Amino acid sequence: MGGFFAAVSHKNCKYDVFFGTDYHSHLGAKRGGLAFYDAERGFQRQIHNIENTPFRTKFEANLSEMDGTAGIGCISDADPQPLLVRSHLGLFTLATVGIINNAEELVDSFSGPGNQFMAMSSGRVNSTELTAALINRCDNMVDGIRYAQQAIEGSSTILVMTKDGLIVARDKVGRLPVVIGKKEDGYCACIESFAYLKLGYAPCYNLGPGEIVKITADGYEQLAAPGETMKVCAFMWSYYGYPNSNYEGVNVEVMRCRNGEIMAREEQKAGTMPDVDYIAGVPDSGVPHAIGYANASREPFARPFVKYTPTWARSFTPSNQEVRNLVAEMKQIPVPELIEDKKLLLVDDSIVRGTQLRETVDFLYRSGAKEVHMRSACPPVMYGCKFLNFSRSNSEMELLARKKIQELEGDEGQKHIEEYADGKTQRGQCLLKSICEEMGFDSLGYQSLDGILEAIGLDRDKVCTYCWTGEE
Ligand code: SF4
Repeated sequence: MGGFFAAVSHKNCKYDVFFGTDYHSHLGAKRGGLAFYDAERGFQRQIHNIENTPFRTKFEANLSEMDGTAGIGCISDADPQPLLVRSHLGLFTLATVGIINNAEELVDSFSGPGNQFMAMSSGRVNSTELTAALINRCDNMVDGIRYAQQAIEGSSTILVMTKDGLIVARDKVGRLPVVIGKKEDGYCACIESFAYLKLGYAPCYNLGPGEIVKITADGYEQLAAPGETMKVCAFMWSYYGYPNSNYEGVNVEVMRCRNGEIMAREEQKAGTMPDVDYIAGVPDSGVPHAIGYANASREPFARPFVKYTPTWARSFTPSNQEVRNLVAEMKQIPVPELIEDKKLLLVDDSIVRGTQLRETVDFLYRSGAKEVHMRSACPPVMYGCKFLNFSRSNSEMELLARKKIQELEGDEGQKHIEEYADGKTQRGQCLLKSICEEMGFDSLGYQSLDGILEAIGLDRDKVCTYCWTGEE
């Protein structure tokens, strides 16, 4: 995944861009980048690896050397960016968020003499560089962006800074939101709406799918109209997004609480709610789903364990799995009084591979829990994300639900995924039982597709649910 914040102003806007980008740090953990344009100093740019150090710490020292009346900042889980590009379209900086699934094919389409890409050490090409090459195939920036968006299979949200201002293009079906904010001296564009509110911008405009907008210090202008089809990522609400943000007018925290309420309501109707001492959420994003569940079920909410965050930044992601597990374990600090001999119902935003959750449940039992009942705030994840790299699985068989289906029924089982995803069917019941056995849960329940769509509250054809249904 990734995120960005961009601003253009009559004044120096470097602090807005710096803090605005920092507020997108939860969307990626590998690379951070900043670029500014100033009439006197021209373009300036810095890129850092942020795998072990937060964006803010890495870029603090650069700020004194950078200035700009326009700037873009990005957080990325992919390649280094923003890139500074010089072509027949002029000099511009470019940042992108998304995935290019047909990258090899697109790179091959540039195989004639005179074409070249800088290869990464893996031999792959930087996705943002490939997007620049696609844009440069056209005579103007707008046609170029449109061309790139049509050519790319996957998703692509594009941000360009020229000496005349910013151009921002939402992905062709709007997998991620893009919003514009306004204040006295200028405008900004970003993914997380809370970022601009916090920096004193007022909500101004939400881009539609595929829409392209030019932004200057004096206003914004539509360069290409939005398309009809929207497929905004449901996981932005249930997991990825920051609680204070609104996407398509729906607040993340409010959605999560409502989602938990719906789960509790349905369990009460079905009579499947276990008798427990506390409802708890897996921090951070599981917590509001759990609060909603507790409020609706009238069972007490508690925090039987709390994450130790002052010295363990989220971006600290050691490449070694063993060290990663150790860090996850060290972060979880129990509250013994709320665990020993207690029956707990734990709510998490989702169950993807289940590795970390298994550790959490083991830790609760080791800390004296009597029962641990598990609830996932979304349906079973059955397909790897092709659009934002959410599940980051090399194979769908790494997804816990798919792995268990394979164990239960072999290849035949993979033909009945829809049935397995429904806990009311016989196959669904078998899947729940087998996951409980593997993970050590006393019971397990998943939010239904209808339930999570009700919590989001948008028309179902406007929301991407691919990772649960496989439907694009
Ligand atoms: S497949 Fe899942 S994670 Fe990916 S965009 Fe769709 S809803 Fe989001």
